[in-house]
Amino acid sequence: MHPAVVKSRFAPSPTGSIHLGNARTALFNLLLARHHDGVFLLRFEDTDASRSREAFIHAIQVDLRWLGLEWQEGEGEGGEYGPYRQSQRNDIYQAYFTRLERAGLVYPCFCNSEELAVSRKAQLNAGQPPRYSGKCARLSMDERQKWLSRGVKPALRFRVPRGRSVEFKDLVRGLQYFKTDEIGDFIIRRADGAPAFFFTNAVDDALMKVSHVVRGEDHLTNTPRQLLLLEALELPRPQYAHISLITGEGNSPLSKRHGSLSVASLREAGFLASAIINFLARMGHYYGHDDFLDLQQLAEQFDIDKLSRAPAAYDDSRLLYWQREAIRHADSGELWSWAGSGVHDIVPESRAESFIEAVRDNILMPEDALDWAQIIFKNELELDSEGIAIVQGADGDFFRFALEALVLHGTDFKALASEIGQRSAVKGKALFMPLRVALTGRRYGPEMGRLLPLLGTERARCRLEKWVNTR
Ligand code: GLU
Repeated sequence: MHPAVVKSRFAPSPTGSIHLGNARTALFNLLLARHHDGVFLLRFEDTDASRSREAFIHAIQVDLRWLGLEWQEGEGEGGEYGPYRQSQRNDIYQAYFTRLERAGLVYPCFCNSEELAVSRKAQLNAGQPPRYSGKCARLSMDERQKWLSRGVKPALRFRVPRGRSVEFKDLVRGLQYFKTDEIGDFIIRRADGAPAFFFTNAVDDALMKVSHVVRGEDHLTNTPRQLLLLEALELPRPQYAHISLITGEGNSPLSKRHGSLSVASLREAGFLASAIINFLARMGHYYGHDDFLDLQQLAEQFDIDKLSRAPAAYDDSRLLYWQREAIRHADSGELWSWAGSGVHDIVPESRAESFIEAVRDNILMPEDALDWAQIIFKNELELDSEGIAIVQGADGDFFRFALEALVLHGTDFKALASEIGQRSAVKGKALFMPLRVALTGRRYGPEMGRLLPLLGTERARCRLEKWVNTR
């Protein structure tokens, strides 16, 4: 493999479906790889068997594909460094545990969770950051044997070297410096045999030749531990970029289980993938403009130096802004399928394109399209009291002129309106509003020039006729 290849990855734990925060992490990784013509990899970190679910492995892929975030290596795509599910890499991890054992860099820890909790509490009470006391590091061979012969299964702890520092240059947050004396010996294999996150995550990045790790800043303090492991195993370091988290309402962090902001729920609500992508791309990355871009353009303009350290606040109105833009830019076929079966049941397929083009600027969600489909293609039309007042406020002959103009000009709205205007001597709002309200029941909406041909002469005639003799 060429050493200069940029390889980034998305490494979700399949313990829930993805929310906007995860999707943004995946997006930035993809944009970085694509910007450099590199590789974007998908790996599932499913070592926690009790919380990982096959259904989430499936759902996460559905969400990524729907967003257009295709990966070139990993789950389902293959590659030279698989398997790409950590639950299937136990033999590999075992070999690396053995290496650390042989080098004397790890030790079995027999402390149980109550003991650890007591020690943690004592440290906190003494105003110290909680870290492992090192108790089991000092066990003699005999003492270890005693525990083992009692059937106690040990966890495996990494012996953090004392009196040193770990440094790395974070691509977002600059130089990072940690004293090893502040890092307690940490578990790399749990008592039940499951390898721990610090370990599998770092080992896999190295073995899979990941060059760049873009991830949430909640992982920043994990990084020195991971770098110590890589050093001990003589494995290469990736470059890290820790991005600020997206904050929810009231500055609370977004959670994977906070269903309302999951990608799936936004899709079900009717958001377009391109809206979410444009929205997320600006959350923590500075593009300098609000032009609607596709993934390729976002990738071309992506610059890791433009990732921001400031927390990215979730803002509903920005998402709606991008939804409007996405609808403006989508092709009519895409919007037709997005509008859904409710619309397909009402709008004849031969009118699909002209319907979409007529309503495009007036819809944000499929339910808006359904609303207009009903207004245009259903026979019955309800007017509210304000609407009734508008049509009844028109000149006595207004609707008679309108009907006659319809016979003369058919659904050519411009000709129709100009004819009515001349005969009734009204113009502007007094001319257009009663027509719009009588024909659509609404005071606002798509251009009448586009709506009238969809309504058709017959339906238009019925709607106008209704108001001819009402005064
Ligand atoms: N499995 C980890 C998570 O879902 C991955 C963290 C990382 O990107 O390194 O948070």
